Parts: sequence; C-alpha cells; structure tokens
Amino acid sequence: MRRFVVDHIPLSADKISIGGKSAKRIIRVLRMQPGDELLLIDPHGSCYRGKILSLKSSTVEIEILQPAPGPKEPPVDVILCQAILKAKNMDLVIQKTTELGVCTIIPFHSQRTIVQFDNRREQNKLRHWHEIAKNATEQSGRIKPPEIQPVASFADILAKFSDDKVFKLILWEQERARELRSILRDEHPRKTVAAIVGPEGGFSRAELRQATNAGFVPVSLGCRILRAETAAIVIVALCQYEWGDLGLSPTLQ
Ligand code: SAH
Repeated sequence: MRRFVVDHIPLSADKISIGGKSAKRIIRVLRMQPGDELLLIDPHGSCYRGKILSLKSSTVEIEILQPAPGPKEPPVDVILCQAILKAKNMDLVIQKTTELGVCTIIPFHSQRTIVQFDNRREQNKLRHWHEIAKNATEQSGRIKPPEIQPVASFADILAKFSDDKVFKLILWEQERARELRSILRDEHPRKTVAAIVGPEGGFSRAELRQATNAGFVPVSLGCRILRAETAAIVIVALCQYEWGDLGLSPTLQ
C-alpha cells in the first residue's frame, strides 16, 4: 500500500486533508481514485490506514481508518562519509542512499577533492542537500530524512568514531586482500557502520595510511574501478543487504 508522510494525523477527527507534493503525487502521478486506500505516517512513525474520499485540484480528502504497523528505520545505522563530488554526482549520492536507508551523510574535503566551498556556498549546498534528502524520504516512504552533517575535513572524519561499536570501513580500489562480502559475513553484525568513500581522484596512500591507523578497514568492491557515486550507492546497499533491511519487511506486505 502507498505510504504518505504527513505532518500530523488528527486523531480527534476522522478525516484529513492533504495538499502540497503528496497531493500532487496522489492526483497526477499515481492517479489514485476515491475509495483507494493508503497509509498515513506522521514524523514519529505513527501509521494509520486511510481511504480517499475526494480529490480536488490540489487537495485530497482522506478518511482515517484503523492504526497499522508503521515503517521502521533500518536495524543498522549506515553512516556514509562521502568526499565532496561534483554537484550532480553528490546530489545523486544523497538521493539514492536516502532511498536505500542511509542514516547519516557526512560530506568531507580530502587531498584530491576538486570542489571547494567557502562558508556561504557551504550553507547553500547544505540547504540543497537537505531538500534532496527530504524529497527522497517522501518518495521512498521513509519516516525521517537522514542527517546531513556540516562539511568536515578528512582528519575530522578519522577522529569522529572512537567508539568500537562502530564498524569502520574505507573503500579502497587497490585493496587486494579484503573484500566486503567476507568481511560483513564474518563480522558479527554491528549497530553502526561508518564507510568512507573517496573523491573522483581517490585517496592518496598517505590518507589510506592515516585511515588504517585510525582503525578503518580498507575494503574492495571488486576488481573494477567504480565511479565514486557508484561506490557510495553500492556500499550502502550492501551493508543494508547483509545487516539491514534490504529485504521483505512485514510493514510492506
Ligand atoms: N583513484 C582512482 C579512482 C577513484 S574511484 C582513479 O582515479 O583511478 C573513487 C572512489 O570510489 C575511491 O576513492 C573509492 O573510495 C571508491 N571505489 C571505486 N572503486 C572501488 C573498488 N573497486 N573498491 C573499493 N572502492 C572503490
């Protein structure tokens, strides 16, 4: 059943009117009709079945029916530390990893990052990334968007995760000994995974050394060199597949 996030479900009433992008999706994209059922979710995760009563040009009136099991955030928190990429590729990473259930995204500068921001541009970028994450959250029926942290330095990233409950990975295309599948299958699943993905030009050897000294495990995604944005999407998907909820969830049935 289709899921729609609304600001608030008025439990004292038995109807709700929704407008904005959700209404547009219901009317123009999905072409839903009176009598069709859907799920209404509030930002805290409360979930109710609803039935469309009427559709006007930009509002939909919905009857609130009984409570339903709500969608849950994944059992594993995947933190993606992503070196800043060229604008479109960064946008793609944020959109796709949000759909895949990433918990936190931390953009960072490294030696070979091409794009540099001043403070004002960084604020504009953060606003833009939040908007992308918010849209992807709604589209994918997640309850809340991932946290997008302010831009960090590579050193900040390495210092951030001192807790050994966090499983720390750095994606390194020249790694020949450790491949992700066996690492994830051999490790006991942990609540949090932090994965660092490099910029278009990759990491320097010095950076890799610093990361391994800080406890990050270099892993390979195979013998082909992937674009950074592909590597980011793949690592989130694979962590969710092995330790998370990239499978049939009871709330989706
Ligand atoms: N330095 C390389 C490519 C960098 S690819 C070059 O220019 O030839 C950009 C980033 O994607 C890398 O820093 C790494 O984090 C990730 N990546 C790409 N392919 C990968 C692979 N096969 N295994 C692990 N990580 C990979």
